[in-house]
Amino acid sequence: MPILPFLRSSSHLTKQNRSNTFNLFPLLSFSTTTAAAISEQHHSPPPIRVALTHSSGRGVFATRPIATGDLIHTAKPALCHPSLSAINSVCYSCLKKVPNSNSFQFQGVLFCSQDCKRRCNEYYDVEMKANWTAFDDYCRNRGLKYPFMVKRLACMVISGVSKSDSLDILQPANLTSDMILEMEEEFALLRNAFSKTSIADEHIAFLTKQWYISVLARIRINAFRIELVGGLYEDLLSSLVASVEAEAAVGNAVYILPSLYNHDCDPNAHIIWIDNADAKIKALCDIDEGEELRICYIDASMDRDARQELLFQGFGFQCNCSRCLQGD
Ligand SMILES: [Zn+2]
Ligand SMILES: [Zn+2]
Repeated sequence: MPILPFLRSSSHLTKQNRSNTFNLFPLLSFSTTTAAAISEQHHSPPPIRVALTHSSGRGVFATRPIATGDLIHTAKPALCHPSLSAINSVCYSCLKKVPNSNSFQFQGVLFCSQDCKRRCNEYYDVEMKANWTAFDDYCRNRGLKYPFMVKRLACMVISGVSKSDSLDILQPANLTSDMILEMEEEFALLRNAFSKTSIADEHIAFLTKQWYISVLARIRINAFRIELVGGLYEDLLSSLVASVEAEAAVGNAVYILPSLYNHDCDPNAHIIWIDNADAKIKALCDIDEGEELRICYIDASMDRDARQELLFQGFGFQCNCSRCLQGD
């Protein structure tokens, strides 16, 4: 199974930015998570800038030559959640796989370390105040995974570890009226779960139907499906392949900076996850200064028609990359 993320598109959908160049850090400054993630492993800023492309809205460009296999930058998720099928085997906070003997079990969920438990203490405390049976059953029965991410974000906002507008920079999906109807049901169950708790009204004032729909619309096309490749990092760096064998998804996550990368069916960059939800963006080939960095949102091994269809259905754009134009 390829590791390529079934991601989202953002900038293909609208071209609302007017200026020619974006300074990366002001653009991201509201997201302390991302800013911290960038500076964490780089003493100097990463070799990229966000700017307008000719045809695809925003994009990410190299500010210096980057060699094949180089780690371009890392990114911590703004929001992540384990898959329901993995909830008993991965860390509730960082999605790392946890052998039971090593883990900190706490009120029914697993943590890989005291650090992770501490990190999600505040929002997990909020989550534990409410009864989630109706909401969880509704989503589980319909096979919905993204509402669990909105629930987590709501808990993070209530506990003060995230802001209600933290995903606003991301492009939202176009929604049909059927999708909105379904979201309204989920919202009612979410809101109901919180309103029966002792949480003060002012702390859940942000939790409107409009907020719920706007967050979910962004998660829909910006969420990465996380497949860990644990232990293969050195192999991956020395390899030119854009996909590797990986196990089933451990969860989903939304990032800010990685969501600004445009798509190409023959990408020059790739996102991998080694042992948790921290994303690592690496170069798949030598990249020139000024060149746009692109990742592949889908399984690049599919044929042209299948890729076009999936990109249009999932992300709302027609791919005009050189591979598609050549009919490959
Ligand atoms: Zn963890
Ligand atoms: Zn293409």
